[in-house]
Amino acid sequence: MDPLKDNFTIGAHHGRVAWHFGGALLAQQQVALRVPLSIAPALLMLAVSVGAAEPRAARDPIALAREGATAIEDRRFGEALEAFTEAAAMRPGDASLCFGAGVAAFMLGRNDVAQTSFERALALNPSYLPPALWLGELHYRAGRLHDAISIYETARQRHPGGRALQHRLADWRKEHKLQSRFHEARTAHFTALFEGPADEPLARQVVERLEAAYWRVGAALGAYPPQPITVVLYTREQFGDITRLAAWSAAAYDGRIRVPLSSALERPEELDRVLSHEFVHAMVAILGGRTVPAWVNEGLATVLEPEGAGDSEAALARTNVRLELSKLHRSFVGLSSRDAEIAYGSAARAVRRLIEQRGVPALVALLEDLARGAQFASAFQERIAMRYEDFAALVARD
Ligand SMILES: [Zn+2]
Repeated sequence: MDPLKDNFTIGAHHGRVAWHFGGALLAQQQVALRVPLSIAPALLMLAVSVGAAEPRAARDPIALAREGATAIEDRRFGEALEAFTEAAAMRPGDASLCFGAGVAAFMLGRNDVAQTSFERALALNPSYLPPALWLGELHYRAGRLHDAISIYETARQRHPGGRALQHRLADWRKEHKLQSRFHEARTAHFTALFEGPADEPLARQVVERLEAAYWRVGAALGAYPPQPITVVLYTREQFGDITRLAAWSAAAYDGRIRVPLSSALERPEELDRVLSHEFVHAMVAILGGRTVPAWVNEGLATVLEPEGAGDSEAALARTNVRLELSKLHRSFVGLSSRDAEIAYGSAARAVRRLIEQRGVPALVALLEDLARGAQFASAFQERIAMRYEDFAALVARD
């Protein structure tokens, strides 16, 4: 059991903060665009309120910006990226348009585009806080802790009152300090970071087991990560401190695999299970970006565990409680241990049904559609040849 990326991916920072999505062009036009961005473990809430929708004038940057903002609000990130990119090309001096494009690209998992967009927004307007916050998060999730800290330090100089910024910065410094004394063990596709020399044998075992998962899961999905993946080994206390996840979490993925060491991991099958599970989350992020519903992500990670989903699904046999898939789009991190058990069981069963009906390639194609900006229900219908709500109704009776 472990948390899912959609939430934890977004950050281990608690507390919601509203940031203004202003900018020269939008302010000038008095378009009320507010983006309350919750950079919180709960999720990256991106609600943009726009004035009354107006028909889009041909190649009008204002109309495009409105369109982009509405698309972000509706979580149609592919369309948002297109609209903001087109608008930014017409008004290259407007930082808010670059920021909008960056947010959309970030959510699609297109990190290079997102990074360039946030950097351009900051170059145009160095005091503009939102792109700095997102750029810092982007670096953090890519494991570039040093860059993340440096972006936030600069932002804090310009916005000394930003408390959320300060808290996040303090967390990152603490993590950086801890990590600076860690050692490394490497294989071709993984790097393990661990604290004490006593943990080295286990760290070696971790990267070797991950190599096995790499080939097994890669063959199942028909896809492999383009870059090495980092796994950080913690004590339970360090893990809790850094991820702030519930005690039932066995590990986490937020751009890096984070594993608290425990006696359970001394059993090779448990070590394999946990590592394989987190590696699948890494693959889902690579294939599908950041909008993949939690039940798909957790379900796939569970079904592809070496022993399959049997144990997780067994939890469903012990209760009549069933959770609707529509309630399982957000990360499971906030759930109680009991609800989490049912959520994982439901997710695993739903994904197993999907695979039985259409095979893994259809599921991978669905993920790739999401990374291109498709909305889940329509991509689902396209790839699974069934309406999402019908499938949800089916598994609710399962
Ligand atoms: Zn998981």
